[in-house]
Amino acid sequence: MAQSRNFIQEIIDKDLEKGKNDGRVHTRFPPEPNGYLHIGHAKAICLNFTIAQEYKGLCNLRMDDTDPTKENMEYVRAIEGDVRWLGFDWQDRFYYASDYFDQFYQRAVELIKKGKAYVDDLSPEQIREYRGTLTEPGRESPHRDRSVEENLDLFTRMKEGEFAEGEKVLRAKIDMASAHIIMRDPAIYRIRQASHYRSGDKWCIYPMYDFAHCLEDSIERITHSLCTLEFENNRPLYDWFLGQLGVHHPQQIEFARLNLSYTILSKRKLLELVEGGYVRGWDDPRMPTISGLKRRGYTPDSIRSFCSRIGIAKFNSTIDVAVLENCLREDLNKSAQRVMAVLRPLRIVITNYPEGKTEQLDCINNPEDEAMGTRKVPFSRELYIEQDDFQEVPQKKFYRLAPGREVRLRYAYFIKCEKVIKDEKTGEIKEIHCSYDPATKGGDAPDGRKVKATLHWVSAKDALCAEVRLYEHLFTKENPDDVPEGVDWKQGLNPESIKVIEKCYIEPSVKGAKSGSRYQFERLGYFCVDALDSSEERLVFNRTVTLKDTWAKIQRMAAKPRP
Ligand code: ATP
Ligand code: MG
Repeated sequence: MAQSRNFIQEIIDKDLEKGKNDGRVHTRFPPEPNGYLHIGHAKAICLNFTIAQEYKGLCNLRMDDTDPTKENMEYVRAIEGDVRWLGFDWQDRFYYASDYFDQFYQRAVELIKKGKAYVDDLSPEQIREYRGTLTEPGRESPHRDRSVEENLDLFTRMKEGEFAEGEKVLRAKIDMASAHIIMRDPAIYRIRQASHYRSGDKWCIYPMYDFAHCLEDSIERITHSLCTLEFENNRPLYDWFLGQLGVHHPQQIEFARLNLSYTILSKRKLLELVEGGYVRGWDDPRMPTISGLKRRGYTPDSIRSFCSRIGIAKFNSTIDVAVLENCLREDLNKSAQRVMAVLRPLRIVITNYPEGKTEQLDCINNPEDEAMGTRKVPFSRELYIEQDDFQEVPQKKFYRLAPGREVRLRYAYFIKCEKVIKDEKTGEIKEIHCSYDPATKGGDAPDGRKVKATLHWVSAKDALCAEVRLYEHLFTKENPDDVPEGVDWKQGLNPESIKVIEKCYIEPSVKGAKSGSRYQFERLGYFCVDALDSSEERLVFNRTVTLKDTWAKIQRMAAKPRP
């Protein structure tokens, strides 16, 4: 079934019908390299690149790098890598706004010459004061009517470094009484005594975002500038700049930004988490950054399918993070190799199984995909199962292993619990002695008797030891941005967002697994080999996602009134 068209596609369809832009469709993704990209950016990336693909148009990747204080090359490289990893290609159209600094300057001079911009001496505080409010018009600056010559002279001297920061500013001459506050003579250029990571010390004046952004789109002959709703307010100003200068005028279309439950999507706040050591870097697997999701084990497919599923709308809303996790489960269910791993080991000794014997049992690699075939997994007298799968005094509805009870070991045999061996001093359970029924090889009894549980296991002497890191949401609050005045949003951080289990046991088939490889640990969830900390000697796995949405279940239980 074809997906219904979103409102942006409808606008573009109409533009093409009218022959606008000679039938061209040209979009761009314009991040500022002041941090790593997050899942919200993925929505904008997917939108811009897929619109271009669909209309056989083009999509540029542009660093919107006009602020000298926060940008750097590390971020540029990370952005490039993330967009490529998501599966998109900008071909040779990788641009930097900072390459247009000369053009921005020339355009500002042009506005001055047209009498549409002036150098103001008011201080930033005074400018704010003169601006007025929603109900009161602003007041004109006493410097508003300087001559073109004087303005050109002062602007040149601003550029030459004659003035201190805040001493002078270039403003557009629009309308101090405009109902749109943004139109009340906004700043175009300000003095910043700062080195830029690309242009170095060439400039000490830098263009304001609103002036630069619309010109960048115009210079690259973008046809449709897709941006988030908060820029709707700025549109009259962009229209004014481009109209006054008489240059190519892209059409701006605003869409709702992505908000996710239990997640913060703001580079500024994410930077605070990184710098404050609340997480271990931008690519911490708990981070909603693309590099964090990648390291956690997300696939590009799952993120693209999430973006297409949530669609594009004109109103803001919050998407349940479970939707993202479900897209991931669907993808991994189809593609992930199954293996058996025991996170919290309990030793089992099968007393009637020959000592020293090892059998290689056939196990299915992926029941969803026969082509993935089978593998051999060793079975022997001493095994590990999960501690959780045994109860000495079984609770009601606990059907797994318990004294005297028989269960199935997946792909292997029925075993029966004969004896619980405890530490004499502490009373702690040390191991469980079981018997097995050789006639049940493969997991079925010839006499038709049934068991109520199937457990996963590993052979103790063959298993690989690995570290496993379990993750929960980084925030305990559904909307971590929503805090009362004066309360630090970081108080919503989940102190249990990571749990490290240092000694887990995994079947030997994962030996030599490459970093980033993804597996389903049977009955436990999806896991991937950590890209940074895992090595040949010491495997480290991240839990990518549980098999089911257990968090939702916990929340439902918490919401239920207690009897
Ligand atoms: P942040 O709020 O995280 O600092 P930003 O908007 O300042 O993000 P930019 O680098 O300017 O970051 O973003 C590049 C593009 O990504 C912009 O076009 C912006 O509209 C889009 N974008 C940013 N955040 C989201 C989001 N949560 N959902 C959808 N698009 C987003
Ligand atoms: Mg921004």
